[in-house]
Amino acid sequence: MIKEGDRVKVRTEKETIEGVLMPSSETDIVVVKLDNGYNVGIDKHKIRNMKVVEEHKEKKGKKKEVKIKKGLPTIIILGTGGTIASKVDYTTGGVIAKFSPAELLELIPELGKIANIKTELIANMMSEDMMFSDYQKIAATVKKHADKVDGIIIGHGTDTLTHTSAALAFMLEKINIPVLLVGSQRSSDRGSSDGSINLICAAKFIVESDFAGVALCMHATSEDDKCAILSPTKTRKMHTSRRDAFKVINDGPIALVGYKTGKVEFLKKDYLKKSKDKVVIKDKFDDNVILLKTHTNMKHSLFEFLAKNYKAIVFEATGLGHLPTNLGKENLKNYETLKKFIKKGGIVAISSQCLFGRVHPNVYVNLRRLSEIGCVFCEDMLPETAFIKLAWLLSNYKKDAKKMLTENLRGEINKRIEFEEDYLE
Ligand code: GLU
Repeated sequence: MIKEGDRVKVRTEKETIEGVLMPSSETDIVVVKLDNGYNVGIDKHKIRNMKVVEEHKEKKGKKKEVKIKKGLPTIIILGTGGTIASKVDYTTGGVIAKFSPAELLELIPELGKIANIKTELIANMMSEDMMFSDYQKIAATVKKHADKVDGIIIGHGTDTLTHTSAALAFMLEKINIPVLLVGSQRSSDRGSSDGSINLICAAKFIVESDFAGVALCMHATSEDDKCAILSPTKTRKMHTSRRDAFKVINDGPIALVGYKTGKVEFLKKDYLKKSKDKVVIKDKFDDNVILLKTHTNMKHSLFEFLAKNYKAIVFEATGLGHLPTNLGKENLKNYETLKKFIKKGGIVAISSQCLFGRVHPNVYVNLRRLSEIGCVFCEDMLPETAFIKLAWLLSNYKKDAKKMLTENLRGEINKRIEFEEDYLE
């Protein structure tokens, strides 16, 4: 019987494919891992025959050691979970529990040619469950390794990948090496998995460039040709399943990395460079901050609740920064509640659910009424970034938090938006 992990030869009408049989979540698709580390999905109905070339044997006992190659840079890959980690789980059909370099290299052998790979598993979780304490663990692990390696890659679930990237960008006040967050939109049991290419491009970027700081490395297009290096504070997951789901909003990518060519093309020139400086982290967060999307027919009782229970509210407002505070009894009560809240020291930050473009404190009377009571208009900052930034500022900069919210600290505010048109096409 053929089983997962066996090396197989699959003959279809058109070709013969050899590789390791992987688990598949789709009943009509057989997934084979090729020797270059990439998976192909083969339609079961098109298979003429499949035979075992080499049976998979469970490895018992001794831990496999990876030899250090002299002259190669060192990269540490930190695992936090998400779909990209399921790749590690599936490996040659068995389960990888320890996330060791040997196991990872068996799965993606190209990585071993780019750098000496180290690994550390921080967590194994879905990213929607992340708490500020998880961000702190990640930052502490980055600090622990930063002076000993040439770059750090963090495997992470894609759903809140940009929340973590923003948190790390703020927490790492000084960072001397590249720290790249990498996710996978499709799991490794699918022929179209993107995880290994994202990891390989991240490793190539670390080795080939002089970039330092936090960024994302994800598919730039829906082809497997290149990855984009993206801002940690201006990027957003804009599609549930596409591999090129991650887009920079109100700005452009930092660089592109060719998957086959390995070529790094910088689109931005003003980035932080690698250095010998000591790493500085400020990793506290205040969790009395909430992010809330406004909509029509909002109840005043909710505004009362927020004012009573939080220190700061980040609104994902409509259009240029409107809140339901103008006409009608309920809405006017919302206005009075916010006014009192701010007077007592509460912070109301305003971003836009439009995402593209910037909020404006005085284009309309309604907006002027909000700026008059002290609402802070967050320019073109993404709502999630404003949320993370404010929670971080409140804890680390206390009284200066409100003032610093509209200062551009990590590229989160772009004064000159050039990439608006057709960017998501
Ligand atoms: N929702 C999970 C997460 O973000 C799985 C999705 C993924 O990894 O892309 O961790």
